[in-house]
Amino acid sequence: MSSSEHLSHDFLPPSVTQLLASQARWTGTSFATSRLKTKLTSHPAPVPAPNSQEVLKSSVCTDHMAVVRWNQTEGWTDPELIPYGAIPMMPTASDFHYSTARFEGMKVYRGHDGNVRLFRPQYNCARMLASALRIGFPEFDPDELLGLIRGLCAIECPKWLPKERAGECLYIRPTLIGTDASLGFQVPREAMLFIVISFWPNPKPDRSLGEGGSAQEKTLRLFASQEGMVHAWPGGTGSAKISVNYGPSLLAHGEAKSKGFDQVLWLFGPEGYVTEAGSSNFFVIWRNCEGRLQLVTAPLTEHTILAGVTRSILDLARERLTSGSSYQWEGESLEVIEAKFTISDIVEAAEHGRLVASFAVGTACFIVSVSHIEFEGRGINTPQNAVPHVSALGSG
Ligand SMILES: *Cc1c(COP(=O)(O)O)cnc(C)c1O
Repeated sequence: MSSSEHLSHDFLPPSVTQLLASQARWTGTSFATSRLKTKLTSHPAPVPAPNSQEVLKSSVCTDHMAVVRWNQTEGWTDPELIPYGAIPMMPTASDFHYSTARFEGMKVYRGHDGNVRLFRPQYNCARMLASALRIGFPEFDPDELLGLIRGLCAIECPKWLPKERAGECLYIRPTLIGTDASLGFQVPREAMLFIVISFWPNPKPDRSLGEGGSAQEKTLRLFASQEGMVHAWPGGTGSAKISVNYGPSLLAHGEAKSKGFDQVLWLFGPEGYVTEAGSSNFFVIWRNCEGRLQLVTAPLTEHTILAGVTRSILDLARERLTSGSSYQWEGESLEVIEAKFTISDIVEAAEHGRLVASFAVGTACFIVSVSHIEFEGRGINTPQNAVPHVSALGSG
């Protein structure tokens, strides 16, 4: 299993970059994956067919899960790989009452060359630690977490992501929860880290037929509103992948779905600053008033944005699509900008024919073009395929 090296850390928030730079600190305070104990299941489950009902519901997990426990007096226990199943918890467990929970979302891919790969998993592990510390969990060595994820994949992939399923992937959900049975208002004194692997439905092609009768790629229809739908705020927890950010967003997401949209485009404040699309980072490509082509996304400086691993598409754009980059890009070069922008900026660009493209990126959806943004009862149509840059990034 390989992971890319020589990575730039520019797209990560300082909290995660510092953690990546100071790994020596973790000696002695972590669990050790080399001490993994394995108990294989005696009831292996059948592998569901691709796109079967259970796969579409994201409800099937593989045969095993990895588990490590921690408590304040003894520290971390040795990690275990055990049959997938229910977790006994007391009704007073910290997680149920105070949302002491955080999670990661990553995928394991079976390549057409037969190899199994993770995509920049060290970032997920560092981000897991950064968000865990944000809500009072103990530290662990992100490299040990990566070792555990790899160990679980090595057991599960031969059966659940076999060579015959080249090009497919499974979804990995490492999770850390506060388990102490106490209603006391305090940082967790007991915790449990577990990793499960589940099926994730592949983004489906649109049912509509494109020109020439072929199925078009799925595009996103976004719903933006400034009324009572705030996902993250300056100084808050939007930059950490912790559960408390998601529960309160589900209602707005459900309402957008029931109106026929795919995701909420989250806005902040009376100015209507554009932050993220659902649980993915959001980008626009427009021409500024001087006609220069720009790729724009919100900055990480105010804790309103979760720094996605796939947000590293910024690096790819800087490397390949800007003027002066060494890569042989034959199209028009663009400027890459991380700066605050508002929904009115998008409306204005669209009205003057300057809006060229918009898209969202995330592990779950990869890179997906936005075709429509609904705002204050009006639709902003975002052009499709007006420039080759989005597909260039998607295939990069
Ligand atoms: C997980 C998540 C993303 C995407 O992160 P990736 O690491 O790229 O998958 C973006 N925004 C939010 C709010 C998220 O929770």
